[in-house]
Amino acid sequence: LIQLAAPLGFLGVVYREIKQAVTDMQAMFALLDQVPEVADRGDALPLAVSGGAVRFEGVGFHYAPERPILTDISFEIPAGTRTAIVGASGAGKSTLTRLLFRFYDVTAGRILIDGQDIRGVTQDSLRAAIGVVPQDTVLFNDTIAYNIAYGRPGSSRDDVEQAARLAALHDFVMALPQGYDTVVGERGLKLSGGEKQRVAIARTLLKAPPLLILDEATSALDTRTEQGIQGALAQVARNRTTLVIAHRLSTVVDADSILVLDQGRIAERGTHTDLLAAGGLYAAMWQRQHTDTPDGEDGSQHSLVA
Ligand code: ATP
Repeated sequence: LIQLAAPLGFLGVVYREIKQAVTDMQAMFALLDQVPEVADRGDALPLAVSGGAVRFEGVGFHYAPERPILTDISFEIPAGTRTAIVGASGAGKSTLTRLLFRFYDVTAGRILIDGQDIRGVTQDSLRAAIGVVPQDTVLFNDTIAYNIAYGRPGSSRDDVEQAARLAALHDFVMALPQGYDTVVGERGLKLSGGEKQRVAIARTLLKAPPLLILDEATSALDTRTEQGIQGALAQVARNRTTLVIAHRLSTVVDADSILVLDQGRIAERGTHTDLLAAGGLYAAMWQRQHTDTPDGEDGSQHSLVA
């Protein structure tokens, strides 16, 4: 029996690792919706992040040549500031964030982080520098503690709890009979969209990346959850260069800059005040939501899609 125990124990470890690898891949594919298509160049260097400034220069992109998705996209996100992208469904918002994560290479122009073309840096270093809080987080079939600690493997329980507090998740977890040891995911406790997003926020707080991509949930959350999430998102975005696909008015009102995407082009740009004054697409979107969906007293639940 003793002779058997060691190999069986080993098999257990292998099984766990395989299971985790499969879950990781599923999570990654679900997160980014795609199989990776790019490879490191032979002379790729690690990305050297100073402040984390992002620059798109004349970026064009298509999935298939006959159908351009993004055309001549140029903008800059100064280090530590927040830029929001708004636009109709299918305008190319998610595609733009996938390019920054280098899930695909641009088909025209270039993307720079602190002056380095992202095609010349290693994917590992690029992805280590960028945190992603997706719309719908895929959780591992493991404990809440594991799911949060995944942001920085080897984190202590104290670090995990601290991140959960900042993400407004701690009280919820403590109310569960098994607390941080509660198993979640497909085969465990099912979390709501808002709770899952808070796990993703806690995970990202632990990862502490200089750059952040936020994809706000489009689904309506109740006002209290919504406010909790907004606070948690503000925590995670603080002092980070942030690109947010914005669906909510509260996010865009505070953004340092707003890009309005229309059929793959930047149609308008500026602050909320600038864009309202310009009286164009953004102002029309804003107007429509204030008249069409009176479901939140403070307007925070109004969805910002054209
Ligand atoms: P939404 O607000 O609905 O999420 P979006 O502005 O984020 O939309 P994208 O997801 O970037 O839009 O999609 C832009 C266009 O690219 C859409 O017409 C979409 O059908 C197309 N597209 C997205 N992903 C792929 C893909 N993997 N292969 C081919 N076409 C794609």
